Amino acid sequence: MQTHAANSINDIRVWIAPDNTRVVFDLIQKPDYKYFSLSSPQRLVIDFNDSKSLISFQNLIKEDHRIKKIRKSKPKNKNSTRIVLELSDNFQLAVFPLAATGQYGNRLVVDFYDKNNNVSKIIHDRSTQSKRDIVVAIVAGHGGDDPGSIGARGSYEKRITLAIAKKLDKLINNHKGMKAVMIRKSDYYVTHDRKPKLARKNKADLLISIHADAFTSPKPSGASVLVQSTRRANSETAHVIANRQKESELLGGAGETIKNTMDDNLALTLADMSKEHTMKSSYEFATHVLTQLEKVTKLHKKQPEGLSLAVLKAPDIPSVLIETGFISNPQDEKNLNSSAHQQKLAKAIYTAINSFFNSNPPEGTLLASTMVIEHNIIRGESLSVVAHRYKVSVDHIKRANNLTSNTVRVGQALKIKLTN
Ligand SMILES: [Zn+2]
Repeated sequence: MQTHAANSINDIRVWIAPDNTRVVFDLIQKPDYKYFSLSSPQRLVIDFNDSKSLISFQNLIKEDHRIKKIRKSKPKNKNSTRIVLELSDNFQLAVFPLAATGQYGNRLVVDFYDKNNNVSKIIHDRSTQSKRDIVVAIVAGHGGDDPGSIGARGSYEKRITLAIAKKLDKLINNHKGMKAVMIRKSDYYVTHDRKPKLARKNKADLLISIHADAFTSPKPSGASVLVQSTRRANSETAHVIANRQKESELLGGAGETIKNTMDDNLALTLADMSKEHTMKSSYEFATHVLTQLEKVTKLHKKQPEGLSLAVLKAPDIPSVLIETGFISNPQDEKNLNSSAHQQKLAKAIYTAINSFFNSNPPEGTLLASTMVIEHNIIRGESLSVVAHRYKVSVDHIKRANNLTSNTVRVGQALKIKLTN
C-alpha cells in the first residue's frame, strides 16, 4: 500500500512493573491518535493518523501477563496505522503523549494498571514477631523509559542505581529486625508521587534514594548526600539537582497527605509537626552515611547538601538522596560499574543505617527493646566464652563492636546487645 504519511512509528518499547505494564511508542512527530477498547477478547485499539509504521512486531512481548500480543491491524485509511494490543484483562488505562526531550523523541505512552491496585501484594511482609522490623525503603533512581544520566562510556545511571540498591536490599534483609522494601525492583519507571506512597504503605522508617551524579564537565567526582532543607541550596550543582524527581523522593509522604487535605490549618499543623523532627533525623542519618562513604570513596561534599523545597512539602519519613559518585567522571564511572565497588557502597550505607538506628531506635521495633550492656574481658575469656555466657552469637558481638577478628584482649570493653 502506498503511503505518504507525515508521521512514523519508529519503535515500541515495553516495560513490565509489578503492578503495571508500560508501552512506549516512539514517533518522529507529535502523535495524532485515537484509541478505544474492545472486549471478549479484551483489546486496546490505537489509530495513529497520518502515520506509517516500519517496525517489526515480532517478539515485542515476552513474559508479560497483561499484554499477550501487539500487532498491526487493517487501518482506517491508507495514511493511518492501526495497532491492536491483545490483553489478558480489563486494565485501568492511562494514555498520554510525551514531547521530545533529551535523547528521546515524541512518544505515546500507554500504561496498563492492575485494578484493585494493592501494594501489599507485591511487597513481601516478613514481620511475624510482635516487635516490628525496622523498615528501610530503597529507591533505585530512574528506570524504564528514564535512564537517568549516561556516562561517557555509555553506562546508564538507572542500571548502576538498581545494582547498588539490590546489594543494599540483601544486606538489610539479612539483618534480623530489619526489612528492606525495594520501591523499584527491575527496569521500569515508578512515578514520582508513587514512591513516597509506596514507602508509607510499607511503614518505612527511612527512605533512601540512590543516584549517580552528573555534570557538564568530566571534572567533578565523588559522592554526596542530599537532604531536604528550608534554606536555599547553593551548591554548584544546585541547578542540576533541583529537579522534580529529587524533590519528590525527599518528600517522604506528608506531601501527599498535605496536598490532599482540604483543611488549610490542618495542613499547616501537620507540616510543622513532622517537618522539624524529620528534617533533623534526615540530616543526622546523612552524616552517618557520609562518615561511612568516606571510608570507601572520595566525597564530593563532606557535609549533607540541602535541597530547598517549598515549606509545605514536608516529609514524614526521614529521607536522604545519595549521589554515589559522578557518572560524568571517567574514574567514578568505572568504579560505579564495578560490582566490588557497588558492594562497598552498599555496605557503607548499610553500616550507616545500623549506626543511625542504634542511636535512634524507632518505637515498637526489636531494636528499641534491646538492652546494651558492657562486658570487660577477663583473663582466659574468648569471644565464644562471652557469647555463650550471654546466649548470643560470636557474630552478633563482632557486629555490635565492629570487630574484624576473633581476638580480644584482657580489659577490652565489649558492647553486648540483649533483646527482650
Ligand atoms: Zn539521578
